[in-house]
Amino acid sequence: MSTPKIKFDLQIKYGSEYGEEEEKAVLQVLRQGAPTSGEACIEFEREFAAYCGVAHARAVSNGTAALFLSLVALNVKPGDRVLTTPLTWIATAAAGATLGAEVDFVDVDPETFNLNPSELESKITPNTKAILPVHLYGQCCEMDAILAIAQRHGVAVVEDACHAVGADYHGRKAGSMGATGCFSFHEQKNISTLGEGGMVTTNDPAIFERVALYRSHCTRVYGRSTKYCSLDEDRVPMGKRFWWQDFDDCGYNFRMTDVQGAVGIVQLRKLDQLNQRRIDNAAYITAGLEGVPGLTLPKVQPGCKHVFHLYPILIDPVAYGSSKEDFIHVMLYEKGIRVGTHYTPLHYMTAFRNRGFRKGQFPVAERLTERLVTLPINPRQPREALDYLVESIRSLRRG
Ligand SMILES: *Cc1c(COP(=O)(O)O)cnc(C)c1O
Repeated sequence: MSTPKIKFDLQIKYGSEYGEEEEKAVLQVLRQGAPTSGEACIEFEREFAAYCGVAHARAVSNGTAALFLSLVALNVKPGDRVLTTPLTWIATAAAGATLGAEVDFVDVDPETFNLNPSELESKITPNTKAILPVHLYGQCCEMDAILAIAQRHGVAVVEDACHAVGADYHGRKAGSMGATGCFSFHEQKNISTLGEGGMVTTNDPAIFERVALYRSHCTRVYGRSTKYCSLDEDRVPMGKRFWWQDFDDCGYNFRMTDVQGAVGIVQLRKLDQLNQRRIDNAAYITAGLEGVPGLTLPKVQPGCKHVFHLYPILIDPVAYGSSKEDFIHVMLYEKGIRVGTHYTPLHYMTAFRNRGFRKGQFPVAERLTERLVTLPINPRQPREALDYLVESIRSLRRG
């Protein structure tokens, strides 16, 4: 069966959009030799930190690296325990797992689909080192409750803000509330740096230093004219040479390139506008789908700015007259609209079944995933595309 061709951009792929400003930024850096992390990345970091209202930001190669480096900076190691939600992209849970830590999940809130603070405390043990709440679909978790529990137990909070760049929680920006905030600029995210990219934000200078070191092989340059001029002369066999490179530890290369950084600066300046178009499109879809029996539409929590990375709906198979699977199939093959299934709970995946997880452990996430689909939403959708989307969903209701 082939999918019908439609003239609208109703695919999830490519969340963001580029224009002449990005083209110019690419060419300018290209003509300067297109270096790795240099002036453009440093400027991007400065502007990103200011936007989020944090002291520090470091650009990295992707969101996965941002999460991983955050846990490295917190010294997460085998024997430690980290907690996250089962409803997320695997990168959130993989960060702890690849460091040899024990990863466990906390069930979600049935209305927001975010990590449920009332399920959190009973999951914390003396070995628990970090909690990774995910601001799913672009709406912040209940951070006040999560931060209070974390503080009571001396556990760090690493915000997975990969869906939520520009989102607000009671006047605070996503990524500014935890020990670190982690962002992705992958092609599908709300802003992008040429397909891949990421950022770590923090207010803690010690965490920032570790993120900065481990991002780039833990190297420090010592010399008479640098600010790292702290070594004894006998450790600096410089002779006539001016500097000496040392390595504090073995680290990684998770740097961003300057071409990406330059595009990031332009994208960041457009972020609020791009998010506003998502918010407007979401409101339009909500108005169009309100009252359709069997559909549960997303609710924006009081005090939150939801930036609608995705638009989740729940389908009641009886009241709507179609299972989630049938809906996905018919939408694709009859309407040419690819809806998403973000996410199937991580404890169903082989990687976590092999770590001892079983169906039945996280009943709210499990019940939700039987009904949960995500609608394509991006800032380029014209009204006709949204009308077509809404009409398609309305017309498929059987009752
Ligand atoms: C995209 C994403 C990541 C990982 O980001 P990459 O840039 O693809 O490595 C992590 N967590 C969530 C929730 C994401 O959506």
